Amino acid sequence: MNNEWELRNFIIEIGRRIWVRGYVASNDGNISVKLNDREILTTPHGVSKGFMTKEMIIKVDNTGKVISGDPRYHPSSELKMHLEVYKERPDVKSVVHAHPPYATSFAVAGIPLNKCVLPEAIIIIGAVPTAKYGLPSTMEIPDAIREHIKNSDAILLENHGALTLGSDLLNAYHNMETLEHTASIVWKAIQLGNLNVLPENERDRLMSLREKFKLQGRVATCDATPMPSSEAPLIPVKELANPGKKDITEQTIREIAEKVLAKIKQG
Ligand SMILES: [Zn+2]
Repeated sequence: MNNEWELRNFIIEIGRRIWVRGYVASNDGNISVKLNDREILTTPHGVSKGFMTKEMIIKVDNTGKVISGDPRYHPSSELKMHLEVYKERPDVKSVVHAHPPYATSFAVAGIPLNKCVLPEAIIIIGAVPTAKYGLPSTMEIPDAIREHIKNSDAILLENHGALTLGSDLLNAYHNMETLEHTASIVWKAIQLGNLNVLPENERDRLMSLREKFKLQGRVATCDATPMPSSEAPLIPVKELANPGKKDITEQTIREIAEKVLAKIKQG
């Protein structure tokens, strides 16, 4: 899809999807797509990404200078982050930035999403690195992501959100979906009291599929180290086995979550 008008429409559609799926609140988030080596289409600042129209999409050059667009709309200050990606990764043609709640929760909690858990995630986004916190609108965020975008198409931004890259807009958006889906499942497994990590040989078999299917993009190899075994069961058996007692208490769930989170941090 190279036609500029088709791309504008597609940016609007992807904006609608990230808003509908709750990946952004209010006017948050931004999307960009490279039209060619000199021109980039991007979303406006101060507008809900669920309600954009074609006229709102802005065309900028590689430095972020506006080439054309309705003067009422301006690019986001977070465009700097997108420009940094295009400078470092000529293979990337689109960037999506959002604040999806599960992925952002891991970024806020300081817990890496780097364990080998789900086959699709291992192949598509791999171990997701976390870039150090930077003040929005400054060069602190582009500086923080620089080392990570060399090896990964999905990055968590500490105390902020997530960034995904792609060979085209759909690919960048799908990486965001995979990232959030993975984060939600890992979080729910933690709530259930266990996180089974796939072993190294299985990880290697999955990684070899990337070559077989000739997948584009870059992924960092996930961590296949098993979670440390627990001496005591995470869910007290007496609470599960005692039908006279009501469901597991909120306090018990909190204790389980704390134990698992502590194990992940160790691992
Ligand atoms: Zn943001």
